[in-house]
Amino acid sequence: MNDWLKDEIGKTYNNYINGEWIRSRTGETFEIYNPARKKQVLGLFQASNEDDVHQAVEAAHEAFKEWSNVPGPDRGAILTRFADLLEKHSDELAFILSAEQGKVLAESKGEVGRAVKETRFVAGEALRIEGSTLPSEKSNIATSVLHKPLGVIAAIAPWNFPVVTPVRKIAPALAYGCTVVYKPASETPWSSIRLMELLEEAGVPKGVVNLVTGGGSKVGNALISHPLVKGISFTGSTNIGVGINEKATKLLKKTQLELGGKNPAVVVDYDEAAYVAQQIVSAAFACSGQRCTSISRVIVLKEKAGEIIQAIQAELEQVKVGPASNSSATIGPLVNQDQLDTTLSYIESGKEEGAQLVYGGNVLSEGEYSEGYYIVPGLFTGVQSEMKIAKEEIFGPVLSVIEVDNLEEAIQVANDVKYGLAASIFTKDLALAYKFVNEVESGMVHVNHGTASQAHAPFGGVKESGYGAFSIGKTNKDFFTEMKVAYFLY
Ligand code: NAP
Repeated sequence: MNDWLKDEIGKTYNNYINGEWIRSRTGETFEIYNPARKKQVLGLFQASNEDDVHQAVEAAHEAFKEWSNVPGPDRGAILTRFADLLEKHSDELAFILSAEQGKVLAESKGEVGRAVKETRFVAGEALRIEGSTLPSEKSNIATSVLHKPLGVIAAIAPWNFPVVTPVRKIAPALAYGCTVVYKPASETPWSSIRLMELLEEAGVPKGVVNLVTGGGSKVGNALISHPLVKGISFTGSTNIGVGINEKATKLLKKTQLELGGKNPAVVVDYDEAAYVAQQIVSAAFACSGQRCTSISRVIVLKEKAGEIIQAIQAELEQVKVGPASNSSATIGPLVNQDQLDTTLSYIESGKEEGAQLVYGGNVLSEGEYSEGYYIVPGLFTGVQSEMKIAKEEIFGPVLSVIEVDNLEEAIQVANDVKYGLAASIFTKDLALAYKFVNEVESGMVHVNHGTASQAHAPFGGVKESGYGAFSIGKTNKDFFTEMKVAYFLY
């Protein structure tokens, strides 16, 4: 562990409301632990309640009056400073991220780097909040369409990407003139403390961004139900997202929901099986399979199945599970005992339903592994599309291989789940690639590579994987602004 981090461990952290670091009115805190050293308490955070949420929303509402009138280029300049600070402090943020989430340092550095890129993109967007002028029915009336900041945004994030996910919500909210109350996942609130400090240092005025830590059912629920909150940007599980959307719809609030996935990689043909396997393994097991865009189903033509399974097994031999402190580790532990138990229960269900576990799937508990939630990535073959492991999001390191006769069947299997987030196809045939892109039910499609998105392109899902405007790209404007049509008589 790095020396700087050692000095930071075990402190008590407060909420950030109206530019002040303050304790919750409950007087209670909760602890977070290191997934690589289960007994190590990393810090204590405020176990907030409805009163804390109310105070934060009031502050954001008050701050909105000025912030929404700050010129876009000035808001963009603050965000550019924030991006610079994220870059400057990327090592220390990556250490915090690895400590609280478990991912290896290379992944944490990649995540912070991605947050920098996304912030730079939206800083530029603050200069381009364009409206339009329409032709008029009358010669003495000019008609304009304006895009006005929406208001106070409730931002709620999961634990798998605790740096980039809040940045992906907070930075565009600020660019478009909104203010924010942010609730991080209870597993990973630590890096968010640092994000607030850097936002303040970048020049974000008090009240524009607020942080309230605490449980989803209490803090999250109070936040989404608050009458002064105009929009909810939520990333997390489909079940919770659907519940949030029900409440928001009744209260006429806008939602932007990034939800679960059960992402397919269809393999038709290729030059090198090893390349396909490398792409699949990396997209399946990065962040130990705890990514919404993880590939979890390989749907392969029967005649290629043997070669692809062999190549995936060979690639899996290169994966080294270990703590972030071990520089040779390529993936870290799962985030907590619940994630480990859920993953193991899916592995049991796969075996019971008749699939063959041909690689991994076993818990590592000896030596350096005894202190964390480690599991060797698992590979199932002989999976049928109606099995639970082929239908449900596992959100852990388990990959299922399903064999099919042709592309038609591959597309039918790919679409035969409730999710539609990301999909890949490997083929040398452009016509087949196009057919797949056209017919697969998925928000993002990748041809001849794994499920990796870019920092300026819209990001989101269809079916039960997402709802509302896609995040990241220009589509954010649809969520963070509302339209106003102005008629000028002259
Ligand atoms: P989760 O259980 O749905 O929690 C997500 C966030 O919602 C957490 O901050 C949680 O707080 C909060 N929450 C829980 N109950 C709530 C309620 N009733 N009202 C308001 N907020 C509430 O998800 P997770 O287990 O953290 O993350 C895994 C899921 O996220 C997976 O399904 C994954 O696919 C999805 N995900 C999707 C994307 C995407 O972009 N599509 C990206 C990443 C992850 P607590 O932590 O305090 O419970």
